[in-house]
Amino acid sequence: MGIQANITAVENEIAEAADSVGRNPSEVKLIAVSKTRPAEDVAEALLAGTFEFGENRVRELLDKQRDIQDIDRAIDKIPNIRWNLIGHLQRNKVKSIINKIALLHSLDSHRLAREIELRAAAEGASMDVLIQVNAGGEAQKTGIAPDECGKFLSLVIAECPHIRVRGLMAVVPFVSDPEDVRGLFRQTRALYDRLKDEYAGKGADFTELSMGMTGDYKVAVEEGATMVRVGTAIFGERVY
Ligand SMILES: *Cc1c(COP(=O)(O)O)cnc(C)c1O
Repeated sequence: MGIQANITAVENEIAEAADSVGRNPSEVKLIAVSKTRPAEDVAEALLAGTFEFGENRVRELLDKQRDIQDIDRAIDKIPNIRWNLIGHLQRNKVKSIINKIALLHSLDSHRLAREIELRAAAEGASMDVLIQVNAGGEAQKTGIAPDECGKFLSLVIAECPHIRVRGLMAVVPFVSDPEDVRGLFRQTRALYDRLKDEYAGKGADFTELSMGMTGDYKVAVEEGATMVRVGTAIFGERVY
């Protein structure tokens, strides 16, 4: 199958998963994770009506933003692209992405928040972010522990007026059976709902819960994801 057919198939799966729990499928945004893929593949997805793209490296994201400009058949859709940075952001790269992305999914430390605040303030900009939650408590992954998220959020609100926290991104262990991470998705959804209520009108307007990848996005939708980040099911296996 080609990229456009894959997108249709994933969208159908999302709609089915949403329907099965009484959610409106339009509440779920599909983010096409185009890391390692050329700008031509982004153009192909654009022509299928996808506008949200996810990248996990700053250099690659900026290069692709530039390369896509040369693809004539996509030219009128390019202004509508929303670039999402979904991978760990190093502090020395923050400066180069101010004003270049729609959403950072991976705010994972206080030091990173302070750097974003500094650079955004200097540019008179602000950045929309999600707090990355290390839902499974995995030592090798970054992210805020679930029970630290409230404290972390209030710190960011207090210290970083140029950061808008829009929700959470869950990272969960890779498993062969997605049912094994349903509980973690459910807990992250509960945390999201609690923080959304607690901070509404008090410095954080939560609208996005980013969770689910190729192997587990259907379960994530059933558990309340508003964004799923899907690479392999759209673009095929990645070759590094
Ligand atoms: C690569 C990546 C994805 C997409 O993974 P697939 O399994 O290919 O869908 C999603 N989220 C993050 C943070 C990633 O790095």
